[in-house]
Amino acid sequence: MSNKQTKTDVILIGAGVMSATLGALLKELVPEWEIKVFEKLAKAGEESSNEWNNAGTGHAALCELNYTNEKPDGSIDISKAIKVNEQFQVSKQFWSYLVNSKLISNPQEFIMPLPHMSLVQGEENVSFLKKRYEAMSNNPLFRRMEFSDNPEKLKEWLPLIMKDRTSDEPIAATKIDAGTDVNFGALTRMLFDHLKSKNVDINYKSSVDDIKRTTDGRWELKIRNVDSGKVERHAAKFVFIGGGGGSIHLLQKSGIPEGKGIGGFPVSGLFMVCNKPEVVEQHHAKVYGKAKVGAPPMSVPHLDTRYIDNKKSLLFGPFAGFTPKFLKYGSMFDLLTSVKPHNVLTMLAAGAKEMALTKYLIEQVMLSKEKRMEELREFIPTAKLEDWDLVVAGQRVQVIKDTPEGGRGTLQFGTEVVSAADGSIAALLGASPGASTAVHVMLEVLNKCFPQHIKEWEPKLQEMIPSYGVSLMENPELIEEIHDSTDQALGLSEKKELVYS
Ligand SMILES: Cc1cc2nc3c(=O)[nH]c(=O)nc-3n(C[C@H](O)[C@H](O)[C@H](O)COP(=O)(O)OP(=O)(O)OC[C@H]3O[C@@H](n4cnc5c(N)ncnc54)[C@H](O)[C@@H]3O)c2cc1C
Repeated sequence: MSNKQTKTDVILIGAGVMSATLGALLKELVPEWEIKVFEKLAKAGEESSNEWNNAGTGHAALCELNYTNEKPDGSIDISKAIKVNEQFQVSKQFWSYLVNSKLISNPQEFIMPLPHMSLVQGEENVSFLKKRYEAMSNNPLFRRMEFSDNPEKLKEWLPLIMKDRTSDEPIAATKIDAGTDVNFGALTRMLFDHLKSKNVDINYKSSVDDIKRTTDGRWELKIRNVDSGKVERHAAKFVFIGGGGGSIHLLQKSGIPEGKGIGGFPVSGLFMVCNKPEVVEQHHAKVYGKAKVGAPPMSVPHLDTRYIDNKKSLLFGPFAGFTPKFLKYGSMFDLLTSVKPHNVLTMLAAGAKEMALTKYLIEQVMLSKEKRMEELREFIPTAKLEDWDLVVAGQRVQVIKDTPEGGRGTLQFGTEVVSAADGSIAALLGASPGASTAVHVMLEVLNKCFPQHIKEWEPKLQEMIPSYGVSLMENPELIEEIHDSTDQALGLSEKKELVYS
């Protein structure tokens, strides 16, 4: 046990993409602020942000059918898709700023251009996709979206998926070339390297075990070295809880009233991966299908080209599953210890309400590899068992809370920033749309926690994110400008195939 105690301006808990993004924003806005990071694992980006623990989709609603709903009158509501797309443009602008300012380099190591496609089968689904295409392609954010229900065209777009397909059911797809594959693990590591070069004090193998308010209004963290067991206390004026699935426990320890009544439900993920070059070379896209009836929105099946470690591979999934852990490297007691007197009724209500989801997750856990292959063969009829391996992905902890619309114990599928009324501490909960919207979500943290500084920060925010404070959809010219400038900075308009094939 040590008595070491320090004081600093900002503490970031967790070395995932969220803390990395907030740290990078703060270093540009107020370089003189002292920042410390505490991460319990040995490296940055090892939990959900790791490239093998998420699907690497730059979520811009170009292909994910769950962002567009069919309304009772048959028309398509694209408002959520517009929101997600605008949020991704914010991320791309900040990443471009970092590249242009030479704060990070080699963007091709974390972002690659890749067509995004939606694929459906059956008359009803084809008609939905066509209506969706008509609603979206008129919008400047989704320009250049193509639709086809012509099998010959689809063979050109999707050779692997269309090969030896015997079904005579109607089939259709949409395609946008402006999609991306993002290696969020590489991005996280790059951002932490950058923070280190700016004298941010990054401490690995340092688990935050407790958070308490001190009499002078700071937050004091109890930090345990996971190897030696040595304990230190570090205090800060502002704390960001970026613990991913671990954030709920840390928020509860802070005791802030805003964190009461909130619970978490863990959903694990599993992908199938193929590294066989002959198969990998036949596919070049992220292809999202439709979620099965009863499946949660995050388990929409998709077949993706991935660029990881200078190699191309194919990823299919995710298959959902259940373990009581809140982090991939968490504890089997995570779910149990997250139940507190203030959230027990909310958790019980959610348990009763979400029987169908629980049943679905249990069924998913029980699937044999052959059964998973059957789902894969709906995408690739010729897929062979021996070409595909299973990889365990990250944990997503969905927020459970009481809402006016859903009532007691409602499962939420988005992300949520929970902050103290005085802005001295904030936590990020939930997982979707996730890493793609990290910059937008961290701007929300800044707005909630530093309202007194936002006016003076505005010019810098506008320099880093030209669309800051502006609706892109209402400014089609700005969209074109931003597409061009971010494509250029991030190298998205160049053909990168040669580097990786
Ligand atoms: C299966 C799956 C697929 C996904 N697909 C996509 C996708 O295609 N596109 C997308 O944009 N997003 C996707 N996501 C979501 C995305 O991965 C997450 O939103 C994002 O990585 C969360 O980043 P984070 O920094 O909040 O958390 P993490 O990356 O999980 O980082 C949290 C860190 O906090 C540390 N920590 C926790 N507790 C403590 C403690 N007490 N003390 C010290 N350190 C602690 C952890 O060790 C970890 O390193 C996916 C997620 C999953 C699970």
